[in-house]
Amino acid sequence: MHDFQYAAAADLEKAIALLREPESEVLAGGTDLLGELKRRIRSPRRLVNIKTLEELGEISLNSRAGEALRIGALVSISEIERHSIVAKEFPPLQQAASGVASPQLRNMGTLGGNLCQHPRCWYFRNPCFPCWLKGGARCFAVVGENKLHRILGEGICHSVHPSDLAPVLIAQEARVRIAGPQGEHEIPLESLYMLPREDHRQTTVLNQGELVIEIRVPLPEKTRRGIFLKSMERQAWSFALASVALQLRMDGDRVAEGRLVLGGVAPIPWRAKEAERVLLGQKVSADLAQRAGEAAVSGVRPMRDNVYKVQLVQALVRKALTALL
Ligand SMILES: Cc1cc2nc3c(=O)[nH]c(=O)nc-3n(C[C@H](O)[C@H](O)[C@H](O)COP(=O)(O)OP(=O)(O)OC[C@H]3O[C@@H](n4cnc5c(N)ncnc54)[C@H](O)[C@@H]3O)c2cc1C
Repeated sequence: MHDFQYAAAADLEKAIALLREPESEVLAGGTDLLGELKRRIRSPRRLVNIKTLEELGEISLNSRAGEALRIGALVSISEIERHSIVAKEFPPLQQAASGVASPQLRNMGTLGGNLCQHPRCWYFRNPCFPCWLKGGARCFAVVGENKLHRILGEGICHSVHPSDLAPVLIAQEARVRIAGPQGEHEIPLESLYMLPREDHRQTTVLNQGELVIEIRVPLPEKTRRGIFLKSMERQAWSFALASVALQLRMDGDRVAEGRLVLGGVAPIPWRAKEAERVLLGQKVSADLAQRAGEAAVSGVRPMRDNVYKVQLVQALVRKALTALL
């Protein structure tokens, strides 16, 4: 490992002040970041441990205006998995949390870290490959081994977004609170992500000194139904080959609004907007599931080894809709 400074933030203000310094990075559970340091994929000059910020470790239901579940950035994935309100009101979130990695990683890994983790692309994770996302000149997945890479999205980077929690939270219209040198602000979680571009080679919009402090998820109305499905190479301890988070708001037996978000198929969680349009005003049926599945993959550009993901996404969308029949 490279040498680095370590600072335990005494409070949020100090954390932000420390993180403002160039080459400083947030350390939460460390399950992603420490691996990157050991492999010399990253070499920040300073790690700012935010685990000291107890106020970011709470999970609560705000029963006033707009009723929202608030989950602090430091809440562990296993706490989300086991929380009674999550189990009762947000079953898709519980489904997603319980499928993340392994129990040990869920105990250590935090919500903020899960949402901000870096891609698992093997070229990104291998120090021998100076991939574009790490500052290099090209994406090695284009002509290399691309079985696990993107089929949707555009730009030079062909990695896929690894978080299981992000698609499901976006489908549930979660918002994210961000703290930084300019104070705090809140945006839709979907807007936290961006396709990396030449002048911003990362998949989140976070700037130096900014960190995620909380996620707010509106309490679903009684007319909402949701599901999260994940396809993996093995049944545990595996990232999604593809995942589907679906949330429907029903008006009688018709879909008044459908939010469909895909994981594992693009560099960021991917809203399947074409499929959402197909769902609008329709009765859920096997035929609709078929058409939504086809629409979910409109615009795909698979590579040599990942054509299978096109069928996989279609099947997951069909299965998700059929489960909500
Ligand atoms: C073997 C293995 C299997 C896995 N399988 C899955 C899986 O199936 N599904 C899945 O979703 N994930 C999976 N993961 C990823 C795992 O969920 C993440 O490593 C974990 O959630 C990261 O949380 P952390 O608190 O340890 O983050 P850290 O490692 O501390 O940080 C991760 C990144 O996020 C940044 N960060 C952390 N907190 C914040 C914050 N509050 N604001 C801004 N930036 C922040 C850090 O600077 C760092 O870049 C797996 C990981 C491993 C090692």
